[in-house]
Amino acid sequence: MENKPQFQLSRLAIMSLLLLGIIALATLLPGSSRSIGYDHFLLGVSDGSITQAKAFPTNQFVTLTGVTAADKKEVRSIMLEGTYQEKVEKTPALAAKVTLTEPQQSGGILSNLFPILSLLLTLGMVVFFVTFILRSNNQGPKSAMNFGKSKARLVSPEKNDVTFRDVAGAEEEKFELMEVVDFLKNPEKYQKLGAKIPKGLLMVGYPGTGKTLLARAVAGEAGVPFYIISGSDFVEMFVGVGASRVRNLFEEAKAHAPCIVFLDEIDAVGRQRGTGFGGGHDEREQTLNQLLVEMDGFEENQGIVVMAATNRADVLDPALLRPGRFDRQIHIDLPDSKGREEILKIHTQSKPLGDDVNLSVIAKTTTGFSGAELQNLANEAALLAAREDKRYITMRDFEEARTKVQLGPEKKSRVQTEESKYLTAYHEAGHAIVARSLPTIDPVTEISIIPRGGAGGYTMHIPLEDTSYTSKTSLLDDLSVLFGGRCAEKLILNDISTGAKSDIDRASKIARAMVKEYGMSDIIGNLSFAEGEEVFLGRDMGRQMAYSQAMGDMIDAEVKNIVDAAYQKAEAILKTHLPILHRVAQALLEKETLQAYEFEALFSVGTLPEGPLNEVEARRANQKVLDDHSQRKREALLNARGLLAPS
Ligand code: ADP
Ligand code: MG
Ligand code: ZN
Repeated sequence: MENKPQFQLSRLAIMSLLLLGIIALATLLPGSSRSIGYDHFLLGVSDGSITQAKAFPTNQFVTLTGVTAADKKEVRSIMLEGTYQEKVEKTPALAAKVTLTEPQQSGGILSNLFPILSLLLTLGMVVFFVTFILRSNNQGPKSAMNFGKSKARLVSPEKNDVTFRDVAGAEEEKFELMEVVDFLKNPEKYQKLGAKIPKGLLMVGYPGTGKTLLARAVAGEAGVPFYIISGSDFVEMFVGVGASRVRNLFEEAKAHAPCIVFLDEIDAVGRQRGTGFGGGHDEREQTLNQLLVEMDGFEENQGIVVMAATNRADVLDPALLRPGRFDRQIHIDLPDSKGREEILKIHTQSKPLGDDVNLSVIAKTTTGFSGAELQNLANEAALLAAREDKRYITMRDFEEARTKVQLGPEKKSRVQTEESKYLTAYHEAGHAIVARSLPTIDPVTEISIIPRGGAGGYTMHIPLEDTSYTSKTSLLDDLSVLFGGRCAEKLILNDISTGAKSDIDRASKIARAMVKEYGMSDIIGNLSFAEGEEVFLGRDMGRQMAYSQAMGDMIDAEVKNIVDAAYQKAEAILKTHLPILHRVAQALLEKETLQAYEFEALFSVGTLPEGPLNEVEARRANQKVLDDHSQRKREALLNARGLLAPS
């Protein structure tokens, strides 16, 4: 009974895969077109390597001949909208250069052969399918059909071209994994000496820090098969399916040792047992139990290394972390500035960069970015350059891409009333002015009232260095900056809006953590009442409060005190800077976005700089703002420690 739904499922899956394959082939054959990324498309159109393109949903080809730059723009927007037929006809000049053809007529010889080909293909696949089923029924666990059951993806050594060279930074992590690589390459060496390599390695780190990449690189370096399955693949609707998938996976792995089994997002199955809510976690627990059984079921030097990845080790069932299971942890941190530069180098390798692009500067201004975000940044920059028909990517593209990766794309089309623009302008100006007045706060690099992501506007800061700890002073200042927006609304409009919701959320979290986790309240003292973030999932659900009601009341009171004090500080700052607040808000309403040097001029001189600066001048001016800021920050620090004589 256990196996039935699963068997039918995989049969169904294979059937639909075959069907899909046929359909895919059918659409691919005539005209032998291929689909490419949008940035490639744009580049291709510009350099003439693409002369034909198919637009959906009408499925016709567009052939481009002798197009000019202006035409390209036109064609591009047409391609994007997919309504080119109509548009092209309305644009006679363009219509002369763009030929529309039905795809059936453009296939050449292939299209004549197509019916026969597809018949042959279908027949072949049916035969293949039938033998497949027969084999899998006779051959037991090692057949291909059974492997399908485990849902794991196999990356064979020949196909795995990822090595440690593709992983930038992370030197310590790579060093630790070298031993595993060596073991997988020569297990006998270890067997002879009786040395035991850990069976299970747990990689812990934020999403996008390269855990999957590293695991794959270990397999690539060692030249062994790499079985990858994600925790969520184990947890299915049918009870028992997950457990049998685990069993199948390990059977498969044992038959192909030495190899790596990689359990991605292990927290999906590996959360602590007995705490699920609603009792619906039977399936997960069975799967986890089976995983534990399997981990115990092979010897240390049998040639299987199980690697697992998670961004939270603390929610995992402790049984997973016992000796003989995942008893070694590798922590993967967010990359530091040098690491970020290395990662950027890897992901810009095949991209043409302008002379002004300085990867080290980009690295310095992307504190807190993960490897995946940096990869995304490089790609976004290339897209922006392509959109403007540039031959290479400029520094400006990277800057814009950075904002986009951090805050989401601009939503210029979102309709905003004059009133809400006005409100946003004061709100953002409020943040920026409070930030500029507090030396521990990172410099303001951009203020805007153009909506992005979910926000109505934004004030960007760039951290000047990677810090691994934060002082109480700077947390208090962070709170004041967060309140700067709401406070400005209140001061100027004598009304407040919902626009401050996320500011207030963040401020509350910070203030709570200061009191409950960092021991930063004089009244509560150095006690920690840390709590998990996910109240309804995993083990935190059933956890008792670790403090008395009286202590709870005190904590609440202290949190409120901290928040109130921070708000008052923001208010005091804004009140002494009222004329500047008006000027900055006014400038925002006029220009929508202010760069660092423009804001700085408004703040310290009271007017916008004269005349527009070109890109290079603006960058220089912005850099000067950052440098001056560092200088001020250093002096403030020395001052606070009484090291600087008052002048
Ligand atoms: P995780 O598994 O930790 O969420 P991934 O391994 O899936 O992260 O990383 C996603 C992508 O980000 C990778 O495919 C790679 O392109 C990029 N990346 C992440 N870290 C690095 C790194 N250290 N060096 C190079 N690229 C990286
Ligand atoms: Mg991953
Ligand atoms: Zn805000």
